[in-house]
Amino acid sequence: MSTTQATTVTCPHCGRTNRVPAAAEGSPRCGNCKQPLPWMVDAGDDDFTEVVERADIPVVVDLWATWCGPCRMVSPALEKVATDLAGRIKLVKVDVDKNPRLSQRFEVQAVPTLLVLDRGETVARQAGAAPAPALRRWVEESITAREG
Ligand SMILES: [Zn+2]
Repeated sequence: MSTTQATTVTCPHCGRTNRVPAAAEGSPRCGNCKQPLPWMVDAGDDDFTEVVERADIPVVVDLWATWCGPCRMVSPALEKVATDLAGRIKLVKVDVDKNPRLSQRFEVQAVPTLLVLDRGETVARQAGAAPAPALRRWVEESITAREG
């Protein structure tokens, strides 16, 4: 029943290109060197449950829009965080204009709005741009409180 797509990720450890599914049990590892891979996918109204709420690891959700300048700064910063924290988080991007149900559900007033979800429960939320080190600190604090 999956409508989700696989994406390809280059392993930061050995350079091997891996196919990574949008939704899977656990978290993806490199087929060659077995290191955790950065997990960065898109989701929307139709596959949010499968891709985000059923994930086994915490999910950082980037609610963004194509016309949003700060989003274009935050996205690469979040990708760096997702690479640094590979195996511990999944990064999921949601285009708010294409996914009105999610925008409404999370009451998105400004973009980017960033969420940390753990098994469907929102554990942290912030709006606006921030540099990668600040985002990483925010994400780590959010997930460390849950990892205990
Ligand atoms: Zn590898």
